[in-house]
Amino acid sequence: MPELPEVETARRSLARAVVGKTVERCVVRRPVAIRTHSPQAFSRSIRGATITDLVRHGKSLWFALGRWVLVFHYKLAGVVRFHPVSPGPDAGTTLLLVFTDGSALEFRDLQLSSFHLLPAGEAGSAAGDGIEPLAPATTLEVFRRALAGRGVVKDALSKQDRIAGIGNLWAHEILFQARIRPDRRVETLTPDETRALYRKTREVLRRAVEAGGEPDFEDAFGRKGRYRLAVYGRAGEPCVACGTRIRGGRLHGRPTFYCPSCQA
Ligand SMILES: [Zn+2]
Repeated sequence: MPELPEVETARRSLARAVVGKTVERCVVRRPVAIRTHSPQAFSRSIRGATITDLVRHGKSLWFALGRWVLVFHYKLAGVVRFHPVSPGPDAGTTLLLVFTDGSALEFRDLQLSSFHLLPAGEAGSAAGDGIEPLAPATTLEVFRRALAGRGVVKDALSKQDRIAGIGNLWAHEILFQARIRPDRRVETLTPDETRALYRKTREVLRRAVEAGGEPDFEDAFGRKGRYRLAVYGRAGEPCVACGTRIRGGRLHGRPTFYCPSCQA
């Protein structure tokens, strides 16, 4: 499930390729993914529009298309791929935007992913997300307020209306680096632990973006992520810091991973 580092990687790789391109036609192969329009109305609306900007809000990508903003959310899984020469759509294609220069943007192998085509003026209020962890405005104090409340720290980190962009995978990598167990209750964190969590949240996400995300993710050109996960998916393997076996299990129905020696 792509999270902030993967969506930001997609944005960076795509921005160079598609900003400035004009949509000549679009092929909708899975209409159900487009939540706001019929395939015909969708195609009619964006035909002839030029992509002027591409930004990320939390885990979603926003393509500015003249009067419209196309909001894409990966949800469970998906591939967004740029093609210098448009391919024919195949069984995996959900949406293909073919540009006037013959290149194309393809969204494929999507699971629960969604598209919303919104009038440019109304799109801002649709964000509804929590704080952006990498934004300069996100100070320790802002982070502390967003995290505050009850419940376990892993859930607090990955609640989109509190902190945008972090899901189950990166929450576990951040908590390992901050040396805090995923099932610790937020209200038991000391000021030092909260400060460590703030610093490591930003550090891990920044490094993950630089590395192109987690190893299973592919950017717009098919390049895989190069971040080496320390705990996620590594149950039973030795901790990279101390050699203790990483513990795996379930926390509120989701997979959980931590080092019993490094994290308290
Ligand atoms: Zn360890």
